[in-house]
Amino acid sequence: MKPTKPGSRRNKIILYYTLAVVLPGIVLGYLAYRGIRNDQALREKENLRRLEISSQAFFNEIDSSFVQVIDKQTSDSILSGSGQSDPSLLALFVKDSSGSKKLIVHQLLYLPSELLTIEPQLSGSFASQKEGLRLEFVERRYPEALRFYQDMIFKTTNSEEKIQALVTSARLYNKMNQPNQAKALYYEIRKEYQGSLLNGQIPIALMAGLEILKISKATGENDEMRNISRQCLEFLLHPSCEYDEDQFDMFYQSFSEISPETDPANDSLFEELDTQRARTDYLLGILSGQDQTQTNSNNHFKGDKYGLSCTSINSGELTAVYLSWIRNNSVQTSMVIDFPVYLKSISENVIKKLDTGSSLNVKVEDDNGSLIFSRVINEETSYLSFPFPEYLPQWELLLSENRPGFIVTLMKAGSGIYLFAFILIVLLMLLGFAFIMYTLNIELRLNKLKSEFISNVSHELKSPLTSIRMMTEMLHHNRVETEERKSAYYSAMLEESEHLSHLIDNILDFSKMEDERKKYELTDLNLDELLVKFLESTRERMKELGLNIRYDSPDRVPLIRGDRDAILQVFYNLVDNAMKFSGSSKQIDISLIPGDNEIVFCVKDNGIGIPAKDQEKIFERFYRGSEPQRMGIKGSGIGLAIVKKIIEAHKGHLTLESKPGEGSTFTVRIPVS
Ligand code: ADP
Repeated sequence: MKPTKPGSRRNKIILYYTLAVVLPGIVLGYLAYRGIRNDQALREKENLRRLEISSQAFFNEIDSSFVQVIDKQTSDSILSGSGQSDPSLLALFVKDSSGSKKLIVHQLLYLPSELLTIEPQLSGSFASQKEGLRLEFVERRYPEALRFYQDMIFKTTNSEEKIQALVTSARLYNKMNQPNQAKALYYEIRKEYQGSLLNGQIPIALMAGLEILKISKATGENDEMRNISRQCLEFLLHPSCEYDEDQFDMFYQSFSEISPETDPANDSLFEELDTQRARTDYLLGILSGQDQTQTNSNNHFKGDKYGLSCTSINSGELTAVYLSWIRNNSVQTSMVIDFPVYLKSISENVIKKLDTGSSLNVKVEDDNGSLIFSRVINEETSYLSFPFPEYLPQWELLLSENRPGFIVTLMKAGSGIYLFAFILIVLLMLLGFAFIMYTLNIELRLNKLKSEFISNVSHELKSPLTSIRMMTEMLHHNRVETEERKSAYYSAMLEESEHLSHLIDNILDFSKMEDERKKYELTDLNLDELLVKFLESTRERMKELGLNIRYDSPDRVPLIRGDRDAILQVFYNLVDNAMKFSGSSKQIDISLIPGDNEIVFCVKDNGIGIPAKDQEKIFERFYRGSEPQRMGIKGSGIGLAIVKKIIEAHKGHLTLESKPGEGSTFTVRIPVS
């Protein structure tokens, strides 16, 4: 029969393993993977559906909050012009059946004259002022005119008259070269009459501010000038009374001429004024322009009680929505809402309503992709985008579901079972593979060692047998002449046969030890006596090899309980190794040291030594060091394994100290009986 090579056996086992375990494992794993994928696809679909519903709910919430804004803004207090207005509300106006428009609430810088609520009055219409004006302008008797005006300030109860008298007095102080008094009066006017219009059209606070500015410029009071000009610009930006574009232009022009040139605060106010102005013009265009409430089916909310229509306004100046509805008596009411401001103010509430479990990430981006609003809980997820309805600015709503991690989801979902199965299969396959490779390697290594052992043992048996046979033949054919030579032959044959017998003992013992059949016959032993006898029996061989054995024998040795033959085998194997591996050194030291509870037996040689990597392995069966093999020193590889087993059976210890090139010391400790 042809012997199988270990390599081909390994390949066969791997092939069977692949067919029996790996392939079914891969198929099962694939099925589990498909299961997970299907499950994921289903959940993704479900997720998409949920996000769609959420986006719809988001837009519906915006619609219904528009209706709430209308409810709030059309309450009677607002329509009568006295309520608090919403910061997102840019303009609220009504158009009656005759077509005339009335602005109720707005955030405009100025208004066209037809929308101004206060009619201009003719200046100088107060009879009581006439005398003062005559003294001032015709006769140029300033002190008397001043007295006249001041008298009026104290006497009059009419606020219009009082403003007039204050303004004319301040003017006179200026003419009389008393700038500080004039300034003080202007400050007072500004403070007291901030929201009033002089002669029904001039914003008195702005006018007083301008006068103060002029005076402080003339008197070189720069700090004051800077402060006042900033305050005046803020007045312009947030007017506290309604005036028309000409007034606005006049003040804007005057301030920009008088204002200190390098003041970044003022510059930014001018910039903001320019922006607001563009927005005002744009809004006025809308208010006076064509009717925005075309009945387009896309710009109506469904089912609202107002018949509300909504149009989006997207211009460079403004992103807003124009809401329009018919109030009672066919009065049409409209409002323009600053959409970014509005959305920011309502988003938190809207999201709270539609996402009670905080499971959504929400973002709103404008048409340029800039972020307007975001409520993000976990940024790592991918977003789905939903366009805003047509009647709103063309923005995008981005939604993503806030999912727990992949593993957690799988565990929770039905696919968890697939994942477990998948992981289990992979683990089992890996474990099985590792185990098979491990046992296979051990088996193959042992096999290799065994076959080496057989060939080694055959050699070891053969060489003493050959020499015995040769010597027997010579004796048989009387070829050995002298009696002395004959006796040497006999003792050599005896020694060779003893060596043979030890070798066979080793093999037999080894096989008994392998199947746990070895029995020990314990008796009280004196190791010193045993050792002396043993050394006696090796003397001839030592001489032949030119070795010198030094034995340190103690005076008194305690007995041990042990098997005589087994202990002799320990001596033989250790000393035989020391002889074999002595190399060029010819000295072997043997010592027996009695201790308290144990006897220590040492065999020390100064030979080739044992490398550190081999020091553990040499006690394994069949193992032989590479150096002896290289040097052609014969051996079977079971000597030390037997020694170790015997010492363990005697409850003792076997240790080794060795350095390559310096020699080895084997130490045996056996407890005393
Ligand atoms: P062998 O029949 O090969 O001597 P052993 O089991 O007695 O088998 O020893 C195993 C190996 O241990 C040897 O092959 C050798 O490499 C190493 N060894 C044992 N004793 C010594 C020693 N005294 N000096 C150097 N190497 C040794």
